[in-house]
Amino acid sequence: MPQSLAPPAGTAAVIVAAGAGLRAGQPVPKQFALWRGKPLLRHSAESFARLGITPIVVAIPAGAEAIADEALNGLPGVRMVTGGATRQASVRAALESLVGDQVETVLIHDAARPNLPSGVIARLIEALAANPGAIPVLPVIDSLTETDGALMGIPAQRESLRRVQTPQAFRYAAILAAHRAWPGDLTAGDDAQVAQAAGIAVALVEGDEALHKITTQADFGPARAPVRIGTGYDVHRLADGEELWLCGVRIEHDRGLAGHSDADVAIHALVDAILGALADGDIGQHFPPNDPQWRGASSDRFLIHAAERAAALGYAIGNVDLTIICEAPKIGPHRDAMRARLAQLLGAPIAAISVKATTTERLGFAGRGEGIAVQAAVTLFAN
Ligand code: MG
Repeated sequence: MPQSLAPPAGTAAVIVAAGAGLRAGQPVPKQFALWRGKPLLRHSAESFARLGITPIVVAIPAGAEAIADEALNGLPGVRMVTGGATRQASVRAALESLVGDQVETVLIHDAARPNLPSGVIARLIEALAANPGAIPVLPVIDSLTETDGALMGIPAQRESLRRVQTPQAFRYAAILAAHRAWPGDLTAGDDAQVAQAAGIAVALVEGDEALHKITTQADFGPARAPVRIGTGYDVHRLADGEELWLCGVRIEHDRGLAGHSDADVAIHALVDAILGALADGDIGQHFPPNDPQWRGASSDRFLIHAAERAAALGYAIGNVDLTIICEAPKIGPHRDAMRARLAQLLGAPIAAISVKATTTERLGFAGRGEGIAVQAAVTLFAN
């Protein structure tokens, strides 16, 4: 008979979800923010529920009952307790709520680690047969150094260090006693530290990179549509005594464009299209026009910034289509140089970059030669 992944009866779970968690730039505490289509907290609660673990006690911030109820709607065995001012106080409140529940073993987990492989739980439960505590750890891959804040100090020996994850598993009576004995004014990074301070032996089992902690806005990213579309539009005035830059290419002409930075109206429109596709503001927000450091600056850096924002949020350029609207200069002779320059700045193939031009039949400001307008459209593909 195959060994069941489910832990034995008497195994409870605690999920710590009581933090303010606004570092991730979400409008609600991050444990309630949507990640891959569901509230972050729900992912690990589902993983415990799937294995038949009950009860699952979730420590939430005071006043968050309604949003937590919605996030956990329909999951069997879930209960909530109000967390405390610290992580340790929140865990203690959850553990105290289990008194009288016939709990032998408890798995204590952070809501910020949504991917919870059942194999990790199986290794923890197995280790508890011989030890009162067990935690998942991973080796350190990067080399490490101590520092005084500015300069490199003593290189640390990474071979003797481990990265500590959750869930952390304990015999219930032992970890409850350890939390009751913990001095309330001390900060505990996790429950293993509380356990160790009480003399509980904590075994190490192999963790899993999938348990990665969700911390920053980039971890959330924009809603993970496979394709996102953005458009941009910009106009700059033609003036005497200015250089003319279009698509990162200097063009010989009797007049040039005036305005923000080098006034490369095509790059500005394209940056707005990329930021628009990411729902990440606009060029003026990222590079305020009244900031003197951008006066005369090459617009190349704005485009590199936009491409890096897209990459950081998990998107690559699909294609770009620009329409330059002017009577003069003629764009045709420069088209291929423009496409090549944009492709280079974006890290995209030239075949993905289109540069077109049109006049307006001498109508309007562009038709009178007072300025140049550019329309941009871009698609981004999820990596
Ligand atoms: Mg502009």
